[in-house]
Amino acid sequence: MNYKLNINERKEALVKLLDVIIKHEDEIIEALQYDFKKPPFETIATEISYVVSELKYTIKNINKWAKIRQVFPSLLNFPSTDYVVKEPYGKVLIISPWNYPFQLAVCPMISAVAAGNQIVLKPSELAPKTSAIVLKIVEKTFHHQHVRVIEGDAGIAQKLLKHRWDYIFFTGSVAVGKIVAKAAAEHLTPVTLELGGKNPCIIDETANLKLAARRIVWGKFLNAGQTCIAPDYILIQERMKSHFVDYLKKEITKAYGKNPKESPDFARIINEKHCYRLMSLIEPRKVIFGGEADMDNCYIAPTLIEEDSLDSSLMSEEIFGPILPIITYKDEKEIAQTLSKYEKPLALYVFTDDRKFARKTVTTFSFGGGCVNDTVIHFANKRLPFGGVGHSGMGAYHGQLSFDTFSHKKGIVKKGNWLDLHFRYAPYAKKIETLKHILKWF
Ligand code: NAD
Repeated sequence: MNYKLNINERKEALVKLLDVIIKHEDEIIEALQYDFKKPPFETIATEISYVVSELKYTIKNINKWAKIRQVFPSLLNFPSTDYVVKEPYGKVLIISPWNYPFQLAVCPMISAVAAGNQIVLKPSELAPKTSAIVLKIVEKTFHHQHVRVIEGDAGIAQKLLKHRWDYIFFTGSVAVGKIVAKAAAEHLTPVTLELGGKNPCIIDETANLKLAARRIVWGKFLNAGQTCIAPDYILIQERMKSHFVDYLKKEITKAYGKNPKESPDFARIINEKHCYRLMSLIEPRKVIFGGEADMDNCYIAPTLIEEDSLDSSLMSEEIFGPILPIITYKDEKEIAQTLSKYEKPLALYVFTDDRKFARKTVTTFSFGGGCVNDTVIHFANKRLPFGGVGHSGMGAYHGQLSFDTFSHKKGIVKKGNWLDLHFRYAPYAKKIETLKHILKWF
């Protein structure tokens, strides 16, 4: 059944959602604590406040974004008025991951609602308490024919993917992204795929090493490294390495103390399976800091690895945990060689005081998005597109782009009737030369 809301009704629904989320703030914090000991500070900063600000921004701008937009007409169509009409795609499926289980489920849903769609949302089964709170919030806010949460695992997701959708928005791994893309292709359903990759963090000899270390430690060990845009590995000019490693060690200790296991500010790995996967990537001889684990409690310490091979298991997959390999380069050619070994990453970071090097790095390499002299924070600007390229994904969202992602844009020409030039109509005889002449002017 179709469930269509006008702009005012969508706005009312979003205002209600804002109210329900604010009322459930404590429960959201508890759910994330339960699921993987996510520190309340991080839950507020990277999940709740992000969602709240996205909601407020959407409520404020929805009328503007939904408006019919006039564009400059083509003189070839003279006389005409040209404009773009946005319409909701219709039935939208959103599948979300466990690592930011509240924000990555709710944010796309907000934009899909704003754009006027009906939504089925499947949160991740690996963060069950958060999935349950998302369900509760949605049930308290929306009519069940408007937005529905269907909880479950990969099997449920696959069943959902067999249906015909008008749009699919998927956030998760590259492997599952391919499954989603294949399922979507069956019905020619458009998709956004927000995936992952190995995000390089390049540091040259001009960088402010102390500040770089602090910002990298924050971006890497936030959420215990389980962030799609976390730096995956360091690529540092070889002369700077030992100095930089000293700073990294100091910053880790400053943030999480001598025993990070006791720190209330350091999250756990999502489950045992991922703990074992991560520990299997560590070669003990290469550990220069950390390396401890408590598998029963899904704890892995912030760990630094001196990496000398791009063929190691650590360098063969997205790490997605608190393990940071450090690799050196001699010259720019070697940076390019290293990056070319991998698929296009979701993020790239460059730390430098050399403006030319920064500009060259962000324009030469292909990646989703990133920062100069910081990590992760590009996610926070709603005016920047957020998304991958190549294997790290397709499509982008945030801010107005999210609204546009869930809207089909119709291009309309409204032709004037007061003039009708006969030139374009058959018979065409003797018109070719004049046509060529006219087209030279366009
Ligand atoms: P995942 O791909 O394993 O799971 C994501 C979702 O897909 C879950 O809801 C899961 O139930 C479902 N799923 C799992 N297997 C499936 C299958 N065979 N068929 C259909 N659906 C299936 O990803 P994850 O482990 O939850 O999240 C980690 C990955 O997500 C990392 O690779 C990370 O980089 C990526 N990620 C990307 C972004 C981004 O914005 N680009 C954000 C967060 C995470």
